[in-house]
Amino acid sequence: MSNLPLSGTRLWEALMEMARIGATPKGGCNRQALTALDGEGRALLARWGEQVGLRLTTDRLGNMALLRPGHDPSRRPVAIGSHLDTQPTGGKFDGVLGVLAGLELMRALHEAGTETEAPIVLINWTNEEGARFSPPMMGSGAAMGAFTEAEVLDIRDPEGTRFGDALAAIGWRGEADPADLRDLEAYFELHIEQGPILEREGLDVGIVTHALAQQWFDVIVTGEESHAGGAMSHRRDALVAAAILVQGIEAIAHECGGDARGTVGRIAIEPSSRNVVPSRATFSVDFRNGDEAALDRMAEALRERARAVAAERGVEVEVTPFWSFPQTGFDPALAQRLRDAAIARNLRFRDMPTGIGHDAVYVARQVPSVMIFTPCLGGISHNEAESITPAQAEAGMLVLADAVLATAGFAKG
Ligand SMILES: [Zn+2]
Repeated sequence: MSNLPLSGTRLWEALMEMARIGATPKGGCNRQALTALDGEGRALLARWGEQVGLRLTTDRLGNMALLRPGHDPSRRPVAIGSHLDTQPTGGKFDGVLGVLAGLELMRALHEAGTETEAPIVLINWTNEEGARFSPPMMGSGAAMGAFTEAEVLDIRDPEGTRFGDALAAIGWRGEADPADLRDLEAYFELHIEQGPILEREGLDVGIVTHALAQQWFDVIVTGEESHAGGAMSHRRDALVAAAILVQGIEAIAHECGGDARGTVGRIAIEPSSRNVVPSRATFSVDFRNGDEAALDRMAEALRERARAVAAERGVEVEVTPFWSFPQTGFDPALAQRLRDAAIARNLRFRDMPTGIGHDAVYVARQVPSVMIFTPCLGGISHNEAESITPAQAEAGMLVLADAVLATAGFAKG
């Protein structure tokens, strides 16, 4: 536990000041990536960084790295990162908490005149949300080699604006190579949970040990259209068959147990007419699990249920893999450092996975990484009503700061 003047009040004030940029009438934030407001948020962070002597480097994808040099020139930086961009009807804390908690550590180090052994770098990743430019986690994904730089620069928003042009237009296209951000000793990310578990269990922080593996599918059910006035016998109703499968998907996740998740988020039917028995239903399946073998079993269970429903209802069911994401383990030694920090501060915590993608999940492909969760009101996020308390923000910040300092080390003499 450090004796640095870490301040929950100063952190909260910074959160509230950043929230004014893109503030929405319902108390949320609309500061989407590569808009003028994103530019303003970045400029504010840069100004705050400058006030405490941080050296800013911006790369060609707009990822911002604010460096505080260390005592030992041979050590690579210990990083703290997250994102300042929001959803169109986003909240004040998703991403922003992680960045500004890192800033609070930099401010406390500066105020105390304390030198660390390893440098510490604060990163604001470009376009984590993927709201205007899809997919999400673009800046961290490209830096870690999940996408190429050229691919990202060419992505267009729904209006047809190129990512690279939008980045240049707000003045945040830098010169540095995004891949330079792989050269880190460790990476820490503090984030709101975006789920209800910590709040329900009355805990202060969550130690995130791994990210769930994901498998997404497209399912197409083909039956036969007929008049709604026709007899109930001999129907081949694609929607009823799909409905049985949708319930089956929920059942698969429940039966699998543990941290299994199964969701149908999108469904379309044809011809979608009030008095016609549907001939075709198309839906998405999103399966997640912390255990890849169990995830494979969920996929197999889906195929089995699809075959059974097809036979029973006289329809055809096609299950096609759409996308997958491997299980990502966070670094056990860094996770232990977080637990030690929580214990020393007398905070209540538990280990948990993240079912949601975060920049840390890409960073973990190249750098030992870990995440900390703080509770959020009702588990709500991507919503203007997203809310945390100053005490929750402070607890997360203290655990983050202590674990980062334990990793970077204090310079002697
Ligand atoms: Zn986020």
